[in-house]
Amino acid sequence: MTTHETHSIPKGEDGLLALDQVVKHFDISGGLLDQLRFENGRFVRHRTTVKAVNDVSFTIVPGETFSVVGESGCGKSTLARTTLGIYPPNSGRILYRGKRIDNKNAQQMLPYRRKMQMIFQDPYASLNPRKTVMQTLEEPVVFHNPTISSSQVKDRVAEVMSQVGVDPKWAGRYPHEFSGGQRQRISIARALMVDPEFIVADEPVSALDVSIQAQILNLLMDAQTQRGLTYMFITHDLSVVQHISTRVAVMYLGTLCELSPARTLFENPRHPYTQALLSAIPKLGRRKGDHIKLKGEVPTPIHLPSGCVFHGRCVHADRRCAEEIPKIRSAEHGVIVACHGVEEGRL
Ligand code: SF4
Repeated sequence: MTTHETHSIPKGEDGLLALDQVVKHFDISGGLLDQLRFENGRFVRHRTTVKAVNDVSFTIVPGETFSVVGESGCGKSTLARTTLGIYPPNSGRILYRGKRIDNKNAQQMLPYRRKMQMIFQDPYASLNPRKTVMQTLEEPVVFHNPTISSSQVKDRVAEVMSQVGVDPKWAGRYPHEFSGGQRQRISIARALMVDPEFIVADEPVSALDVSIQAQILNLLMDAQTQRGLTYMFITHDLSVVQHISTRVAVMYLGTLCELSPARTLFENPRHPYTQALLSAIPKLGRRKGDHIKLKGEVPTPIHLPSGCVFHGRCVHADRRCAEEIPKIRSAEHGVIVACHGVEEGRL
């Protein structure tokens, strides 16, 4: 594969949502006394920073399902929350329909909050146990439409409950009276109540029984078709990603390794980390030796490795990999990849 120019920074004009060199770090130093170390006869202050998201750029186009995958701790959930403004980025820009949103205050964000919704992994934790389904679902509608009449709200709740497959006559019930699958349907209903354009779904089926997962995925796909929704889908489950995604971004230690149309990624993964992830998916006919075993453990995001963050576990690593951070580069078929080996043509 030949690689071309360094991937151009997305401007966001053509996309629904764009991240431009976004960085999100968390200072976990604690109080001053926690930070002080006695070294060489004097106190020195040390700060501890978790580098959760590092210089991530991409553009999500309207109507697509953009999946973000990677092992637990790779920064994908932080990326999701940063995208929605739940965590402010340390640097970089986030654009919605070409307009910068990362620098807006709470009041200025209100119109965007309605358009951008989130579905969480644990539907029980994300629903208020003291509120009935009616109270949960009417709240966002009334918040964004203060002049709406109560009968219009009730009609809207009944309409959306029916759409997600929950009987509207159960609107007076509390979350604990529903199964896990039904609770996730209610979470999806809450997101749909305000007619969003863009939904971030953070591991929306991983807490559910396997038998229920397909139903919830089908519900999300149907809602996308009916409403023209755009999804950012966060998951560690590659078998799910394969079936629902338009494009897939692979993250490792808060860094974007590869971004590719879903079919291309599964047929021809380029980055060694993507290859290792895909080789772990159980497949009929796959032999034991086909599974690429990575050496070592995932390093801590407090002390990121030099050069390519994957070099300590990559069998193709060389000296350049340990010293120089690989740039994201465009390749054929809409693929972008950050790997010296791919760029040099040796992979
Ligand atoms: Fe492996 Fe080097 Fe590519 Fe990183 S840059 S994935 S270490 S070959």
